[in-house]
Amino acid sequence: MSEPRRQQGVTVLGSTGSIGTSTLDVIARHSERYRIHALTAHRSRETLLAQCLRHHPSLAVLDEEHDAAWLRDRLLQAGLHTEVRAGREALNDVASDVEADVVMAAIVGAAGLLPTLAAVCAGKRVLLANKEALVMSGALFMDAVLRHGATLLPIDSEHNAIYQCLPSEHRGGLSRHGVTQLLLTASGGPFRGWSRERLATVTPEQACAHPNWSMGRKISVDSATLMNKGLELIEACWLFDARPEQVQVVVHPQSVIHSMAAYSDGSVLAQLGNPDMRTPIAYGLAWPERIEAGVESLDLFQIARLDFEAPDETAFPCLRLARQAMQAGGTAPAVLNGANEVAVDAFLKGRLSFTAIGELVEDILGALPVEEGGDLETILGADARARQAAHEWLKRV
Ligand code: NAD
Ligand code: MG
Repeated sequence: MSEPRRQQGVTVLGSTGSIGTSTLDVIARHSERYRIHALTAHRSRETLLAQCLRHHPSLAVLDEEHDAAWLRDRLLQAGLHTEVRAGREALNDVASDVEADVVMAAIVGAAGLLPTLAAVCAGKRVLLANKEALVMSGALFMDAVLRHGATLLPIDSEHNAIYQCLPSEHRGGLSRHGVTQLLLTASGGPFRGWSRERLATVTPEQACAHPNWSMGRKISVDSATLMNKGLELIEACWLFDARPEQVQVVVHPQSVIHSMAAYSDGSVLAQLGNPDMRTPIAYGLAWPERIEAGVESLDLFQIARLDFEAPDETAFPCLRLARQAMQAGGTAPAVLNGANEVAVDAFLKGRLSFTAIGELVEDILGALPVEEGGDLETILGADARARQAAHEWLKRV
């Protein structure tokens, strides 16, 4: 019998989203190990209320005070003593609070950067789903992890897979550890095999109907344009100290192999599993131990075959644009990300065609100068300028 352990406090940033709800599902299976310290959401107060009633956090955060007041009232009526706060400062506080041992960074987009960095700077175990935060601030983010002794565990399924396939100490460049290449698998999204002409008229509903994964709308569109794979390429470079040319994207429609590492002796190590984010989430929560995640084991006979093909960068230029941004370095990935967020939002609101997402990002990336991206102010400045330029671009179409 193992010894009784101290419960770990967990803050879930973005608890009402797809990753957030999967995180709460895993945590509920292990109440002896984890206690919810704080839950946060942007505007979905009803979902946050239901989560508070179920998980009894010490703190809950919403973006606006009138939503926070609504939640405060409901929780008091229910006899709960959850403190409810509003605003960005509160997000940083719950991410760095001494009561939080683990922080799940599951806010979508650049909005997650500051609270995720706050968790890193407080030396937490940070479960990173919010890839945009790392894409924007790569060098600064990885520096802060080292400097503040944070434990960074990738939750993105591909990076979690690679993490599992690498030696436990993999810092200092891949080649030092005999790794020759990272093979980043991609489902290819809902439009795999489509021509650019056919892509021009796709709707948000089509783009959000991913064949293998159920995810938030922004990442669903990114998966459809392959920008998600581009962001993941950048994410892999930072997490694993790889150069862009060491990361090969492999389209693998079944989404059973979540990614691979190739070694100099000819070995290729892969991590396989059903496409369910609760596996990487459980891995991140319990590492280096393993806990039950509610995910069924693979039935290889039912899967029967695994296919692989090269990505089509002509029909899906976003992957190439992300690689170029990483090669350009400095603030280029932050510009790519900011422009993409504006473009995806416009597409989801019916104001931009699917193929124009890549066109907008390419134009903004070409138009803005690349600055050295060493400090937060420069990164946030580049993000703001990219958004401004993207909004102006939208006015012209
Ligand atoms: P989602 O849209 O389902 O949820 C986003 C969460 O963030 C919600 O709780 C929302 O309230 C909160 N949020 C949104 N905007 C906010 C803002 N401005 N300020 C504060 N909170 C805000 O997104 P998701 O699919 O769960 O993805 C979350 C992150 O995880 C993304 O960065 C995504 O790329 C990454 N990720 C997701 C998956 C997946 O399977 N869903 C897989 C890998 C990586
Ligand atoms: Mg992924």
